[in-house]
Amino acid sequence: MEDKLLHEKKSGWLQVDDTKINEIFNFGYSYIDFLNQAKTEREAAEFIVEALENSGFQNIDLMGHLHYGDKVYMMNRDKSVYAAIIGHGSITEGVNMVGAHIDSPRLDLKPNPLYEDVHLALFKTHYYGGIKKYQWTTTPLALHGVVAKTNGEKITISIGEEEGDPVFTITDLLPHLAIKQREKKLEDAIEGEGLNVLVGSIPNDAKEEAVKANIMHILHEKYGMKEIDFCSSEFEIVPAFKARHLGFDQSMVGSYGQDDRVCAYTTLQALLHADIGEHTAVAIFADKEEIGSVGNTGMYSEMFDYFMYELLDKKGENTPSALNRTYCNSMMLSADVGTGIDPNYQEASEANNASYIGYGVELNKYTGSRGKSGASDASAEFVAYVREIFESHHIPYQVSELGKVDLGGGGTIAFILANKGVDVIDCGVPVLSMHSPFEVTSKYDIYSAYEAYKAFFEE
Ligand code: MN
Ligand code: MN
Repeated sequence: MEDKLLHEKKSGWLQVDDTKINEIFNFGYSYIDFLNQAKTEREAAEFIVEALENSGFQNIDLMGHLHYGDKVYMMNRDKSVYAAIIGHGSITEGVNMVGAHIDSPRLDLKPNPLYEDVHLALFKTHYYGGIKKYQWTTTPLALHGVVAKTNGEKITISIGEEEGDPVFTITDLLPHLAIKQREKKLEDAIEGEGLNVLVGSIPNDAKEEAVKANIMHILHEKYGMKEIDFCSSEFEIVPAFKARHLGFDQSMVGSYGQDDRVCAYTTLQALLHADIGEHTAVAIFADKEEIGSVGNTGMYSEMFDYFMYELLDKKGENTPSALNRTYCNSMMLSADVGTGIDPNYQEASEANNASYIGYGVELNKYTGSRGKSGASDASAEFVAYVREIFESHHIPYQVSELGKVDLGGGGTIAFILANKGVDVIDCGVPVLSMHSPFEVTSKYDIYSAYEAYKAFFEE
C-alpha cells in the first residue's frame, strides 16, 4: 500500500535496459557535436535552420497556403528561429509550443575593444548575462563573431576552436602577491573592467602603441578589418575547450553553453522526430533570454507574434481575434535548464524540492524569487495535464524549484507567453555549475527532455 501512496524518487539509470542506454549514449554523442558547432546564438541558429531544411522545413516566406503536415520556419536576424509543423486541427484551437533559448552567458567585446598596456595588446569586454567573473580568468578563450562592413560585406570569424588555432586568456594575479585580493569579497575580487583579454605581445615599428598596431595589422591582413570596424561587429569571447563526456561511466556532459542549448537541441530533435496529430507544433529558439528577453530577437519581440500571424494567414484562419484565441487555447513547455542539487553546495537546495542529476526531466510549477516574485505559476490543472502526458508515455520526471526560498531565484521565457494567455510550465534539464564555462548535465536527463518534448508536441 505504501509503495503506491508514496512518491518514490529513483535514478533514471535504474529504469533503463541496454537498448535504452544505447539510445541515450548515441543521443549524447550528437548533442556534444552540436555543442562544439554552436557556441554562439548565431551559430546555433545556423545549425538549427540547416537541420530543419534537411528535414524538409521551408522558409515560411516561400510558402503559399498551409496544409496538414507542412513544415515551416522563420529565421529572425540570424539569432533566433521559430519553426512549426501544421496539425490536423485549426490553429486557433491551440498549438503545442516548446520554447528554449540559444544565447548563453559570455564576454562580449566592447565597441572599441583593442588597446595596449605595458606593451601588451588586450581586448576590453562587457560581460553578457549573469556570470561569476572569477570563473573566466586563466582559462583558454576563443573568439567568435561577425564583422559587418559599410559596403554590406559580412565576415564571420572563429578563432580558437581548431587544433593549431591560437587562443586568448584573461590573466589573474599570482598568489604570492594576492594578499589584498584575497581579502576582497568573491563578488569584488575580479571587476568587470578587469576582464581584459590578452591578444598579443609583438611590437611592430609603429612609433606609439606598436603592439596594438601589430595586432591591427594582422586583423587587416587576414580579414580586411580596420579598427573602426569593431564598432559594427559582434564578437563573443567563449571558452576555447570542447564539450566532453564526463565521469568514469561517461554518464554526463561537461561543456560551455548548455544553458540553454541543451533544451534547444532536445527541442529541435523532438520537433524533427515528432509524429504530429491534431495540434500544430511550434518550436521557439529565442535569443537574449540571459539579459531579459529584450530586443527584436528576444522573446518579448513581436517578431514571434508575426510568425504566428503568418501561420494563421497562410492557414486561412486569420481574423482580428485569431491570434488571441490561439494563445488562450495553446500550451507550452518553457524548455530551460534548472539547477541540480550540488554535492558541494547542498545548503542551497531544499532536498525535498530539488532536482537530482540523472533523475529525469524536471518540471518547475513556478520560478521567480523571494515570495514567487516575477513567477510564472502553472495552474494545477495544467500541471495535471502535463503529468498525464509524461506518465502515459512512461517518461520519468521530477518536480522541483530553483533552490531554497529567499536564496535568490530566476526566470525563463515562460511568463512572456503566459502573459499572452498560454498555459506554460517550466520543463528542462537540471544543470550543475550553471552559467560557468563548464556546465554539467546528465545524458539521462538530456534524453528524458527529448522524450518529454516529443510527447508534448504529439499531444
Ligand atoms: Mn536559461
Ligand atoms: Mn541562464
